[in-house]
Amino acid sequence: TTDLKDAKGFKGHDMLAPFTAGWQSSDLHPLVIEKSEGSYVYDSNGRKYLDSLAGLWCTALGGNEPRLVAAATAQLNTLPFYHSFWNRTTKPSLDLAKELLETFTANKMAKAFFTNSGSEANDTQVKLVWYYNNALGRPDKKKFIARAKSYHGSTLIAASLSGLPALHQKFDLPAPFVLHTDCPHYWRYHLPGETEEEFSTRLAKNLEELILKEGPETIAAFIAEPVMGAGGVIPPPATYFEKIQAIVKKYDILFIADEVICAFGRLGTMYGCDKYNIKPDLVSVAKALSSAYMPIGAVLVSPKVSDVIYSQSNKLGTFSHGFTYSGHPVSCAVAIEALKIYKERNIAEKVRNIAPRFQDGIKAFSDSPIIGEIRGTGLILGTEFTDNKSPNDPFPSEWGVGAYFGARCEKHGMLVRVAGDNIMMSPPFIITPEEVDQLISIYGKALKETEERVKE
Ligand code: PLP
Repeated sequence: TTDLKDAKGFKGHDMLAPFTAGWQSSDLHPLVIEKSEGSYVYDSNGRKYLDSLAGLWCTALGGNEPRLVAAATAQLNTLPFYHSFWNRTTKPSLDLAKELLETFTANKMAKAFFTNSGSEANDTQVKLVWYYNNALGRPDKKKFIARAKSYHGSTLIAASLSGLPALHQKFDLPAPFVLHTDCPHYWRYHLPGETEEEFSTRLAKNLEELILKEGPETIAAFIAEPVMGAGGVIPPPATYFEKIQAIVKKYDILFIADEVICAFGRLGTMYGCDKYNIKPDLVSVAKALSSAYMPIGAVLVSPKVSDVIYSQSNKLGTFSHGFTYSGHPVSCAVAIEALKIYKERNIAEKVRNIAPRFQDGIKAFSDSPIIGEIRGTGLILGTEFTDNKSPNDPFPSEWGVGAYFGARCEKHGMLVRVAGDNIMMSPPFIITPEEVDQLISIYGKALKETEERVKE
């Protein structure tokens, strides 16, 4: 088989670019995006791309929703900034908290805490949980259990919670209070003859064994994405969350739902928790909260946790935590408008209606000899390239099969997320049937070219 390394040199744009952001230098030959419109973005040469990842799983309402721009402009003209420290706040921040809490119905939520990002939301979760256990007089209940292949962010603690080795190696992470349990990826990890239900039972049993080994009195919280995103788009196997929640509850461990990707309609329900009957104690959101037009994240806190924090008997005093831009009025004004639009347009139902066209259209390529698995639900989908249709036969990484596929998509006018031989897509909620058909057609063309290249 021919070496596919030259995929790397495609257009001088390195599709194998490591997981990194922030380093900005023109000698890295970045693809410069200049304009967005609906489901499309344009580069600095005026080339148009279907944005199959909605930015970074976030521009839910697409590239030029005028109502979000108007909300930001109006707020900038009235009060561009005031903080929310020392019991001072702004109206957009208060209003958003109220609206946001009302949208979450899987479990009662009492309070919202605003951050600037998903990573900050998850860092905030850790401090909240520690504070909660300290207030209850059990300071040793401190450890967190997350899952292999999860992604919870890039700050020290959020990266620790994440189960991706690339985020740990070289950084002396994860922090010692973080443990990881199994990745719930049935196709990759099930035993011969094991059903999805049996697989979920085994994973729940492994979780319980880990808790018992560490001592339940030391385990504070369990954190999970309803559908794993950056780890390769991994929906939970049948009965998984039911069984995991039973274990977590049994040992008085808090359940944190990381809804940073799944919330606001992505899975065809307002929250991932609605889809999988998850009743979390704490929830993290970001991304589609403002359709990414302004940076904002939030933690939703159930009465179980907030009642302890705000109880008269809590001797700890203030929860000393917050960011200058927590509850930034412009971000909040945009988020309020985004939530209004999701409601008015019944966005979760819209996603439910268009999802089969997207899912079935791409899954029709499952027979490709270079595809191991295509998986997803709603408007989120992952493709994993492997040889012999087996999870145990990866293509040599130096072939860059995923990178080649990504480069061909780009050539045909579509941006996808490439992570090794995993391809991820999460188009905007506003994607039209015609755009879905275009997405499928480009995917098909790029797949055929990649198959031919692998055969050479
Ligand atoms: N949690 C999940 C599930 C995510 O997918 C992400 C980002 O992709 C984060 C947290 C981190 O969010 P941010 O990049 O806004 O810090």
